[in-house]
Amino acid sequence: MKELNCKIFGHSMTKTSAPFAQVKEYKCTCCSKEFTKDGYGEIVVLDSYWKHNNENLRASFALK
Ligand SMILES: [Zn+2]
Repeated sequence: MKELNCKIFGHSMTKTSAPFAQVKEYKCTCCSKEFTKDGYGEIVVLDSYWKHNNENLRASFALK
């Protein structure tokens, strides 16, 4: 029933990325779903598209 809990009360997200990381990633402590923030600051599900996107972002930040 964890999924239902999230649907009713919303996800209980905790930040999984480093405090000052440019790429923000979150995880729900209830259903273990992962999330990230898109370019507009909106929380989106961290699917394969975003995982790939974030890896590229981290790589580009590391070069600076
Ligand atoms: Zn959840």
